[in-house]
Amino acid sequence: MQYVSTRGRAPIARFSDILLSGLASDGGLYVPEAYPRVTATELDTWRSLSYPELASAVIQKFVDDIGAQELATLTSAIYTAARFGNARGDSNAADITPLRWLEPGLALLELSNGPTLAFKDLAMQLLGGLFERTLAERGEHLNVVGATSGDTGSAAEYAMRGRPSINVFMLSPKGRMSAFQRAQMYSLDDANIFNIEVDGVFDQCQDIVKAIAADLEFKQRYRIGSVNSINWGRVVAQVVYYFKGYLAATQSSEQTVSFAVPSGNFGNILSGWVAKQMGLPIARLVLATNENDVLDEFFRSGRYRVRSHGETHITSSPSMDIAKASNFERFIFDIIDRDPELLREFWWELDTRGEFHLGGTPIWPIVGASGLVSGRSTHTDRVRTIRTTYERHGIVVDPHTADGIKVALEHIDRDVPMICLETALPAKFSETIIEAIGAAPERPSAYAGLEARAQRFEPMDADSERIKSFIAQHAVGS
Ligand SMILES: *Cc1c(COP(=O)(O)O)cnc(C)c1O
Repeated sequence: MQYVSTRGRAPIARFSDILLSGLASDGGLYVPEAYPRVTATELDTWRSLSYPELASAVIQKFVDDIGAQELATLTSAIYTAARFGNARGDSNAADITPLRWLEPGLALLELSNGPTLAFKDLAMQLLGGLFERTLAERGEHLNVVGATSGDTGSAAEYAMRGRPSINVFMLSPKGRMSAFQRAQMYSLDDANIFNIEVDGVFDQCQDIVKAIAADLEFKQRYRIGSVNSINWGRVVAQVVYYFKGYLAATQSSEQTVSFAVPSGNFGNILSGWVAKQMGLPIARLVLATNENDVLDEFFRSGRYRVRSHGETHITSSPSMDIAKASNFERFIFDIIDRDPELLREFWWELDTRGEFHLGGTPIWPIVGASGLVSGRSTHTDRVRTIRTTYERHGIVVDPHTADGIKVALEHIDRDVPMICLETALPAKFSETIIEAIGAAPERPSAYAGLEARAQRFEPMDADSERIKSFIAQHAVGS
């Protein structure tokens, strides 16, 4: 399996190479040269696999520089009931991502039972293991630099903490995370974890990370790596639960299902798109945004207009508060038949004019045929959805998952099961849950008293040079 850049001007690479880097050297994103395929027969043989077995079968198709046995050992060490089953204490913890039917035709795929109570653990925990074995093989170190609006940062830190070959520098926007999210990250006292609290919004944090990645000399000198949602290892790890959800919801591989995905940076839903390209029978991928509706605007009109920092709303589903969607480039690359020149034109337009428009072009019907549809959810919608889901089904969902359910119901089709991805547990967002149902969400016992623990972080301005010199001073292996 070879990987190519969406912009067509970076060297071809293999899985382990792109695992440790972020953007390609031409500013593009790496994608497999061609998507591996899964036949219906193969899919049927996967029905009896456990989650770690399925993970190794799916991921193996994207990797040819890690042995099959080693990968299987790694997935079974990572995807354990102990690591992914303690949040709710369910009896089906060994499923890792249990499917829960709310009513016939409507299900919730639980992706948030890992150590930081969000779906990002599923990919990040594996990434921790993949990083460590690849660094050991090469005798190298890595300085992970990332930006987070909450969930990515904690998932990354919990996956990388205590790993001596890795330091983590995580930029988070001041005052934009929930008290729980903040405490979850800032209370870690591992020597290899550095929380940088940036006086700015998430997109400024993300821009600084991009600026660091674009400085090739700095990047090489300090062995800078990325765990943001553009990391291909994360995308691949997330593909697994689309297969798992499909297999749990169907009896035969002739059936189709749809998935509803609360979206921000287009990482999670991109994995669904990859699964569909591999041949998984997915009817629709329903993309839900919150008030930050860049992607909903695109799927309705063909206009992709990134927002300015000032236009980014602070919402009660903060992990979806984005101004542009960093993984979207991979989807557009597929839509335009993988033409790097055309892709560069669109992104040039985006950089100079802040938007490109596919509506009315010959490309627009291809987007229409992609199976991706979208919708938008507001604070009122999400509070109402949390309440009605609780009243009807006796289950409390988090605000992001509620956005997904709200939009899923707008696109549900009688004959096709709709699987809503649960992207976080409500315990992370008590303020909104209290507003919706008048009571605080249950909190897993491991998190009792979290906000009272001592916090450790570096407050800094949104200044990439200052942040670079901090990283240079504290980098591992330099
Ligand atoms: C990260 C996150 C999202 C958005 O996922 P993307 O991959 O960025 O689209 C949605 N919900 C929660 C809870 C998240 O943590």
